[in-house]
Amino acid sequence: MNFLEERIAKDGIVKEGNVLKVDSFLNHQMDIELLNEIGKELKKRFEGKPINKILTIEASGIGIACVAAQYFGVPVVFAKKAKSINLEGEMYVAEVESFTHKCKNQVIVAKKFLGEDDHVLIIDDFLANGCALQGLIQIVQSAGASVEGIGIAVEKGFQSGGRIIRNLGYQLESLAIVESMDSENGTIYFREQ
Ligand code: 5GP
Repeated sequence: MNFLEERIAKDGIVKEGNVLKVDSFLNHQMDIELLNEIGKELKKRFEGKPINKILTIEASGIGIACVAAQYFGVPVVFAKKAKSINLEGEMYVAEVESFTHKCKNQVIVAKKFLGEDDHVLIIDDFLANGCALQGLIQIVQSAGASVEGIGIAVEKGFQSGGRIIRNLGYQLESLAIVESMDSENGTIYFREQ
């Protein structure tokens, strides 16, 4: 097991409805040393890629993206969740269905922060069905920028997102892939990588 898998096995909590809680170290209380290790590992996995910007989505992607950004030396842009705002053509917009909250959000990025010269690494905490990632990819495409890769902390390999995104041809690096988990006895099995 790698460092993240070990931590998930120790402190992750399996909830009903295929939800894995990692809020004691990843996305509510955040263990910055762990985030540093995630940042270093992502830098290693995307070595040689001409990344000049990191894109994530609020809220829980922001912490990981910001710590990782220090290893890449690039700025972070986060897509904001917007209910009803005056879009006025100054924003890229995508629709994202939330896995955890079961609702649809429009996510927006100001056009001035993403353009055709950008080479983007997308980062998020979780990958489940892939809706969040597809929204972010759509925003990068609308900007005429390129997706250099996608870095995820925890992929739930038993949901469809990973397969969909890899089939689209993107370099998707998930530091931990949960193969199965059981809310009755709390067991978590990881995919060998
Ligand atoms: P997707 O769009 O891939 O279905 O879901 C990804 C988003 O939903 C992530 O941004 C993450 O915030 C949230 N999410 C999905 N599954 C889980 C989970 O099991 N636990 C937690 N904490 N968040 C999740």
